[in-house]
Amino acid sequence: MSGNANPFEPPAGGLSLYLHVPFCERKCPYCAFESKVPSEGEKDLWLEMVERELHWWEARIGRPSLATCYIGGGTPTVLSGPEWARLAEMLESHFTFDADAEVTVEANPNSLSADHLLFWREWRTTRVSIGVQSFDDAELAQLGRLHTAARACEAISASLASGFSVNADFMFGLPGQTFRNWARTLSQAAASGIAHISLYQLTIEPGTEWGSMPEDELSDGYLPYRWAQWYLPLKGFGQYEIANFAKYGHESRHNINYWKEGDYLGIGPGASGHIKGWRYKNISGLSRYSGSLKKGASAIASGERLKGSRRASEAAVLALRMKQGIEMEAFAQKYGSDEESRIIKLLEAFPEDLYSVSGNRISLTPKGMRVANRI
Ligand code: SF4
Repeated sequence: MSGNANPFEPPAGGLSLYLHVPFCERKCPYCAFESKVPSEGEKDLWLEMVERELHWWEARIGRPSLATCYIGGGTPTVLSGPEWARLAEMLESHFTFDADAEVTVEANPNSLSADHLLFWREWRTTRVSIGVQSFDDAELAQLGRLHTAARACEAISASLASGFSVNADFMFGLPGQTFRNWARTLSQAAASGIAHISLYQLTIEPGTEWGSMPEDELSDGYLPYRWAQWYLPLKGFGQYEIANFAKYGHESRHNINYWKEGDYLGIGPGASGHIKGWRYKNISGLSRYSGSLKKGASAIASGERLKGSRRASEAAVLALRMKQGIEMEAFAQKYGSDEESRIIKLLEAFPEDLYSVSGNRISLTPKGMRVANRI
């Protein structure tokens, strides 16, 4: 860890927590996330190490109140009922939660059970984010997903019936994906009762099973993305960020905190965090992560305090992800007018139809969002 051993003051408020569950039932061929099929005893080891990591943080920042909490992965629904109970107990003992805290859990349709929903309801979960990816069985099989479209529909219905605000993730740009299939998936998503939709373009990641697939085997993402930008708002889902659409009031507060450079702790192998301009990344791989914690050291692999132009650039890039873009007066106050001029100049180098200036605000146009999404 860079800097002093105890560099943080307790956060003033509005803290978020991301907790990474590094397990999946099966590794998808395109996936570069930190996840593996757990072998015997690994889930217990992970829980024990998360507890140690939480203690490490508590010794430094106390027991802050969480405005948002996001338990993602990997596949959090590979955890059994008793494992969820243990995890929730740990979180309750190391944090307090704001009265209106947004608590999101990620779910895979294949492993989501009635017991999960019941437990989450009784705990403090408010949102369920389901990795649906497609409503086309052939596409799901191609992606190596374990669930069918029918199973995804059941997972959505059961989550809605349990009273959660539901997000579903979808993927476009799959090899051979037709526009017709994509439009059908989006239409089914919009009619399913969910309140939030996240869209991701398939990319080829080195080190994955599909890592050597030539990029040109993927279908072009331009039309599916631009279609979503036109179609989803018609169905009541406003685009509030490059990859995210929500019904009014169902935007993810947790993710908005990331894009607004808010403070968040990242817990678990490979997780990232940000506290007051200091970004850190945890050690990847369960055995190396636990090796460090067992020695009484932190789980942090590297950290960096961004300053000056780099910090301003990062803030601008994050703000431009959101529909509201950059509020230039506030930006200049925070980073200085030289940085404001530099960012404006950089944007002016792009074609005019990619960004718009309205009053004191600079934001990406829908077409600009597509370009940014591709980058
Ligand atoms: S379920 Fe998600 S996290 Fe797990 S391997 Fe598949 S894409 Fe990766």
